[in-house]
Amino acid sequence: MGEEAFEDLAEHLQRREYEGREYRHVPDYRRGVERGTVLLEGVVVRGFPKVPRTLVLSEGVPNHFEDAEVAVEEKLNGYNVRVACVDGDVLAFTRGGLICPYTTWLLDRRLDVDFEPIFEAYPEAMLCGEVIGPENPYTSHDYPAVDSIAFRAFDWRDRESGDPLSVRQRRERYESFGVPQTRLFGVYDVDETAAAVREAVAELDAEGREGVVMKSADARTQLKYTTSAANRGDLAFAFSLPFDYGQAFMFRRLIREAFQSVEWDESDERARERAHDLGEAILLSMRDSLRTVDEGGTVGERHTVRGDDEAIDALVEHLRGQGLSLEVETDRREDGDRVLTFRKRAQSTNDKIRNYLDGHVVRE
Ligand code: ATP
Ligand code: MG
Repeated sequence: MGEEAFEDLAEHLQRREYEGREYRHVPDYRRGVERGTVLLEGVVVRGFPKVPRTLVLSEGVPNHFEDAEVAVEEKLNGYNVRVACVDGDVLAFTRGGLICPYTTWLLDRRLDVDFEPIFEAYPEAMLCGEVIGPENPYTSHDYPAVDSIAFRAFDWRDRESGDPLSVRQRRERYESFGVPQTRLFGVYDVDETAAAVREAVAELDAEGREGVVMKSADARTQLKYTTSAANRGDLAFAFSLPFDYGQAFMFRRLIREAFQSVEWDESDERARERAHDLGEAILLSMRDSLRTVDEGGTVGERHTVRGDDEAIDALVEHLRGQGLSLEVETDRREDGDRVLTFRKRAQSTNDKIRNYLDGHVVRE
């Protein structure tokens, strides 16, 4: 990046602190460098690039890829983590460029992945993966065989340039270090990819899984596509907190459903079923939230996390430090761990639902 461009960027960097070390990060898009890029002790850790989406496979896939072959991997529903080693410390960066103390602790103590030999061999590596599982402070989703929380690698980049390894090299390298990875459905001729994805997506949908990410062999071009189950899950979630989620978030997911229904040439009957499922996702979750507030409860994202005392305290402090209002539901011990269940209080939703239930009149 040129000096002038950097000066421009520098004004928009946010300052943070992690265990007494100051760092700066890029908090949003359109700054000439990926959101989530971090500067820490003279080291640059690039953000993970935004992954574009196609609404229509048959046209979108060949349009997007100039390559002969496309690798299709499963897209997991968890949170994006970049792992880098700075000054001897293995640190976990979340999407927006914060060092998450809890994830950093997890990587070191719980995730069955030994990152140290990797950084000994490749000190400049930026290991990118999804942290998944039900006991997750950001995006909880159940996966069979993941009881608590797990890491699945899906990319390997140079931390300073952001350049990725090719899909093949990356998969071999992680394999050689025994690091679990996202599933690879296969590598297809670009013209056969849409059909292959459609098949994979049908299977994933039936299992309630999220979707796929397609990648050029050199991993520089990516494209995502999600299942109806994922769209519905997102909608149910967003509509359970209807006044805290941006309306654009909901609208985009509804649009995806319409394009999928048309591309897949659904019968009227099948389309009606889709409409029904969609309606349930939206309305039943909202109804639950209204009832909860009506009965005097509060609504908000609920999460359970497991760890040692300090890791849990650090997480709570980290989340509160971002302005979240947390309500602890239970704080107990299990097999030597502290298990905390908390809610990220959704302020607007709680307030608005309360007001409307009390008869506040809306002027629209
Ligand atoms: P984005 O800006 O990347 O679109 P988003 O928050 O909208 O971010 P998602 O819709 O979840 O994110 O899609 C992109 C994310 O999918 C990646 O940032 C990554 O965390 C996650 N992901 C899961 N599995 C994979 C995979 N196999 N390859 C690449 N990314 C994956
Ligand atoms: Mg995601």
